[in-house]
Formats: sequence, structure tokens, C-alpha cells
Amino acid sequence: MKPSLITIAFATGTLLLGACTPDASSPESQPDSDQEQAVAPAISTQTLVATTTVMGSIADQIAACEGNTEVEVLMPLGVDPHDYQPSSAQLALLAESGFVVANGLMLEESLVEPLEEFEQEGGTVFRMAEVGEPLPFGGHDDESAEEHDHDHGEEEHDDHSDEESHDHDHGEEEHDDHSDEEGHDHDHGEFDPHFWLDMNRVADATDALGVALEARYGEGFVDCAAEVSESIRDSEGEMIEILAAIPDDNRVLVTDHDAFGYFAEGYDFEVAGVVIPGGSTLAEASSQDLAALVAEIESRGLTAMFGNFHVPSDLLNAVAEESGGLDVVPLYIGSIGEPGSDQESYQEMMLYNARQIASALGN
Ligand SMILES: [Zn+2]
Repeated sequence: MKPSLITIAFATGTLLLGACTPDASSPESQPDSDQEQAVAPAISTQTLVATTTVMGSIADQIAACEGNTEVEVLMPLGVDPHDYQPSSAQLALLAESGFVVANGLMLEESLVEPLEEFEQEGGTVFRMAEVGEPLPFGGHDDESAEEHDHDHGEEEHDDHSDEESHDHDHGEEEHDDHSDEEGHDHDHGEFDPHFWLDMNRVADATDALGVALEARYGEGFVDCAAEVSESIRDSEGEMIEILAAIPDDNRVLVTDHDAFGYFAEGYDFEVAGVVIPGGSTLAEASSQDLAALVAEIESRGLTAMFGNFHVPSDLLNAVAEESGGLDVVPLYIGSIGEPGSDQESYQEMMLYNARQIASALGN
């Protein structure tokens, strides 16, 4: 990509710009959008692609600091990441970028193969959830644990630690020779992908992302990522203060799906039950599951349960009703908020959730 080529392209407006697409090792980009292509020469600008809106918010903040980076987010606002299906236009964005900021741990089920192809073609995929030690799914959900190769019972967490650190140590390199077997294991959701509900983990992952970006694109990213991670840690401190209003006995969550394992571990809560088993929003609960959940809620005398702002659930409402008319409190789980929502960044989303939880469970 020589400056002279770019100058010519700009001057003449004729578009031989496929050749200028940064970092795309396959010439897939069709000249179907002259406008986008005209912007594509991007000069010193690089484009990061983020998968979820939460990853997009973090990438946006780093890019805003760095100044020469654009961010494209694949998932639209409000989309359930478990249920997301990429359009061909969204997949085409990958060809315009050399670097994807992904959640990982099978959250983006429909992107697993496209991202592996992207890596085979020389792109970098940074999977934020794989920084640090991922957690298995919570041990409270015995029914769904039976579906897995091994149980995730509470007593067994220690047994997993070897396996976890083993898998994790091999992290980045393993993706190249991803065997079918690994993919199969991951399909069953060995690890909980909802790491972003623990802000400390996100801050650590943001620092690590800065290192990876700097390795690929040069100076500036480590410092910018450090600014963002500091902001995340500040917000985490604020969040912990908000949550401090909740007495120990009330630090119990029932949620729409099994998303709050990291939150519970990080901030001293217990997940007493979930409506949709299996760690995704896509499974179906049996009537026995639901009856057991209602019994659990009643025996503990819970007064609130937590829903998903973007994925309203009739089932959740039915359980709340059946349990004596519990409040259903919506939280931002899989996506940040729309413009004007005041939950437009990751940090705002987390603080909103903390306020909602504190007002439902606090004194
Ligand atoms: Zn989820």
C-alpha cells in the first residue's frame, strides 16, 4: 500500500482499491460499495472489528485515545450474542480489518468458523474472555450439568483447575490447529463466556489487548488501553460502593440465563437459580426445572429476579408470577444500551446494573 496509489485513487476517484484494503489477505472485497471503498484507503488508519457491543465499547475507547483507529462492531445494539447470526455484509467487514476483538469461549457461536478462517488468512483474533482463568459454569445448575461431559458441581471446581489452566496456557496458539474435538468440547460450553460482568477481569483483558494491538500496529496502544482499564477500574470501585448497600443475606440472584457466575464470584453474590438452563439464552427449561426454581425462590423468600433488558422472557415473567409476584428487574447483559439510553458504554451499563440490583436487593 503505497502513498502514491492512495493519492491516485483519491485524485481520480477511480477505484482500484481492492488492492489497498489493509491486511486483507484474500481479495474478497467486491467493488459493490464505492463509497465505503473510497474511504477504505484509510491512510494511517487501521480498522478494528469487535464482535459484541461490549467489546466494541472497549475498542472504541481505546481507539478514541489512540486517534488513528476505526472500530466496526459486528453485532447490532440490543442483539443477544448467543443468538446472533452475521449478515454477509457484516462478515465482509472482517476482510477490511486485520484485527478482531472478540469475547471468545463460544459466546459468539455463529462466528467461531468465520473467525478461524480469518486467523488462517493472517488476521489476529484477540479473545478477551481467555485472558485470566475462565470459570466453568456455576455449580448451582445440576440439571444442565448432566448434559455435559463432566459435572460442574460445586465440589468439583478444584478438579477443573488443572484442566482450566492447561487449556488456558495453550490459549492463542491452539486456535491455529483447532481440532474438531476441541470445537466439539467448546460447543458444549465448557467455560462460562460471561466474563464481562466482572469488571476487574475486563480491565485486565483490556491491558492485554493493548499489548496485542501494539504488537500488531505499533506504539500508543498500551498507554491508551491503560487509560481505558483505569477508567474501568474506577467504575468498578463505584459499582462496589453501590452494591455495598445490599446486606449479605440478600446477595442472591435469580436470572434469566446463567450469565452471572463471574459477577457473583467477583462481587460476593450467590446465583440461586436461572430460568433458562445451559449457559446460553437458547436452551429450553423443562417444567420440572421451573417448578424446582419456583420452590427455591419461595423457600428462600426472594423478592426479586433479574431479567435481560434486550431479551424479554415470558418464561421469566411466568416464574415471577408463580413465585408470588416477584419483581422482575431488567439488566443490560449481552449488549450496551442504545444512543440516549445513558448506558452507551460498558462502564455505564455496569453501573446501571449495579444500581438496579442494589435498589432491588438493598435495604
Ligand atoms: Zn449470555
